[in-house]
Amino acid sequence: MSTTGIDTLVKVKHWAQWPTDLHNKPEQIKRQISANKAKHQPLEVNMETQTGTFAGSGKKPYSTTLSKCNCNDFVKRKLPCKHIYSLANYLGYIELYKPETEYDESMVLLRAYEPTDDWGKWDPGVHKVWSQKARYHRAFEEEFDIADFSKENQFAKINGYSVSLESCSCPDFHERQFPCKHIYRLAAELELIEEPKTASRQYEIPEGAAMITIKL
Ligand SMILES: [Zn+2]
Ligand SMILES: [Zn+2]
Repeated sequence: MSTTGIDTLVKVKHWAQWPTDLHNKPEQIKRQISANKAKHQPLEVNMETQTGTFAGSGKKPYSTTLSKCNCNDFVKRKLPCKHIYSLANYLGYIELYKPETEYDESMVLLRAYEPTDDWGKWDPGVHKVWSQKARYHRAFEEEFDIADFSKENQFAKINGYSVSLESCSCPDFHERQFPCKHIYRLAAELELIEEPKTASRQYEIPEGAAMITIKL
């Protein structure tokens, strides 16, 4: 059995027609995370034909094989949906990694993003993961002490930390290697990001996310 590394959710044996590295893409990892949820377990599975049925959004259940599903997501993308992952998991072709906390789950997803040409080389998808949104909001809600700001060098000292768009000397960045509130503040000073329109409450970091209880 070949595995795809500790940071990915799915350990893959060869199944259906999907290339192994497809399963490590963020858009696929999101679906693997959904496949883990209790409500996305199969209603019925035929072990012989390797097909399953899943609760649908309407009255009719979805019919799923390892290579096809009639849900909207599959019809639209033609790539494994949460039902296909759930079925493959049930049949033992893959083992969906179950993170202990939602926070760990968000880190698995974040690590799947590759560098881009966007600011700080961050994939724009990174900023949409809830644990990042919490930091993004703080960048607009808190007071910061900003010194040595350089538009040219895209650098500042924020609350005493050395901040560029790619990195920050604070403990949060050191621990996670994803944008902290200082990086978002710098991006805001450089007019690369806008103030969020939604309230921050929904993105608060839950208790039990011990790793990030270090001072944000
Ligand atoms: Zn489906
Ligand atoms: Zn920082």
